[in-house]
Amino acid sequence: MPKNNSKPLMVYNSLTDKKEKFTPINKGNVGMYVCGPTVYSESHIGNLRTFVVFDLIIRFLKSQGYKVRYIRNITDVGHLEDDGEDRIEKRAKLENVEPMEIATRYTNDFKDQLRRLNCLHPDIEPLASGHIVEQIQSIEKIIAKGYAYEAKGSVYFDIDKFRKSYTYGKLSNRNIDDLISNTRELKSQKDKKNKFDFALWKKADSKHIMKWSSPWGDGFPGWHLECTTMSQKYLGENFDIHGGGMDLKFPHHDCEIAQSEAISNKNPANYWIHTNMLTSNKKKMSKSTGNTLLLKDLNNDGFYASTLRIFLLTAHYRSNLDFNKKALEDCQLLADKLFFSNDWLSFLELSANNKEPQVSRKELENIDSNCLSALLDDFNTPKFIAELNKLSKTIIKIDNKDLNINKNNLKYLKKILETQFFVFGFNTKDPDMIRKDSEGMSKMGSEKIDQLLEILEKIRSKARGIADYDTSDFIRDELSKLGYEIQDKD
Ligand code: AMP
Ligand code: ZN
Repeated sequence: MPKNNSKPLMVYNSLTDKKEKFTPINKGNVGMYVCGPTVYSESHIGNLRTFVVFDLIIRFLKSQGYKVRYIRNITDVGHLEDDGEDRIEKRAKLENVEPMEIATRYTNDFKDQLRRLNCLHPDIEPLASGHIVEQIQSIEKIIAKGYAYEAKGSVYFDIDKFRKSYTYGKLSNRNIDDLISNTRELKSQKDKKNKFDFALWKKADSKHIMKWSSPWGDGFPGWHLECTTMSQKYLGENFDIHGGGMDLKFPHHDCEIAQSEAISNKNPANYWIHTNMLTSNKKKMSKSTGNTLLLKDLNNDGFYASTLRIFLLTAHYRSNLDFNKKALEDCQLLADKLFFSNDWLSFLELSANNKEPQVSRKELENIDSNCLSALLDDFNTPKFIAELNKLSKTIIKIDNKDLNINKNNLKYLKKILETQFFVFGFNTKDPDMIRKDSEGMSKMGSEKIDQLLEILEKIRSKARGIADYDTSDFIRDELSKLGYEIQDKD
């Protein structure tokens, strides 16, 4: 059941250009579809921004008690670009391999990168190539409703006909008449009634490898169709949230809306969420511009995957975010701080007592409620990160001289940390950070390790002093596993 907060969750809906109160169709459940990658090369950190943002949204919804069904597709069927080339096939020809080999390689790579960024798996990750039958059925429905026509083995969506009953381009708010008159007609599109009609099915020429048989002959589906077909199949004709990058608003999402309205007379999603672009020197990061950066490039420069995740969330998702090394360095410091505060808290747990608290309950409550308010307000991650920073400072400043913290406060602190780290997707087991930490430990040298052992021995004798044998035995056993034997003097 969703939590009963004093404030509602407000979500900016790109369809209405307003922040709206979020009310799902079925109480307690959220159906969400996010357009996935086209798998013909490695996803760059701009692509990753979009998926990390949706991961945070899902984590937050879950933390608020919603049951989320998250669908994210894989576009593994190549689509013709303006130059008439299919990117997956182009790459396959270049490397002399099967197009599906290219698609599989970059699907695996994409999933691997998202795993490293601690993104939750989608509940269903449908492949376009696995839903050809369903896509053909969608086309048949659109033809039957009179909104599509066949032309020499291809099928096109009939924009003029659609515009007699519906608005085309309502998401992007484009002036469609202007757009139509300014669109240049491509040679490959001469079979269309209107140069703006988009393909639902494309006839394949004899050289095309990825093709399927259909009532209109051998061919392959149009790009916009897979998302309409797969979202309808797994979430129904009308669901809660549809997401993607802003660059997908037009034509992709406007075409999806048109297809859905033609099939079912319904706008597929009640809330449309669009992420803004990651830029580099203020230019959109994209493969075609050639200004892309990869997670592995950042790793080579010594940054953790967790650092990139933090960086991608430092701007609000509707704002541009410009790549910046200095900002990345600051994020790495924050990652270290969060990592350390988690460790420090576990350490403090060993000596928790019932003395006066060093941190006031009120202070903790404020941080907790500020985290919630930030995210209820259209997922305001910059404010959320500022609160996490405060939280880690609060933990780190807890005095370690006599290792003294009140038990109840510690429990509450732990709960806040666990909840907010879950929502933020902060991975306290990020191998990049653990590696750096152990390198740091070896640099610290044996002198520091001796000091740490001394502290642990002190905690242990304190525990024994108050007959807390669970703690004292725990410390002895854990140290023994590491090869340090403790001799009891009594
Ligand atoms: P693609 O593989 O090109 O279809 O892109 C996958 C996702 O990444 C889509 O939702 C795009 O909108 C998004 N995307 C592409 N470039 C950027 C960028 N520079 N910043 C943020 N998101 C992007
Ligand atoms: Zn899509």
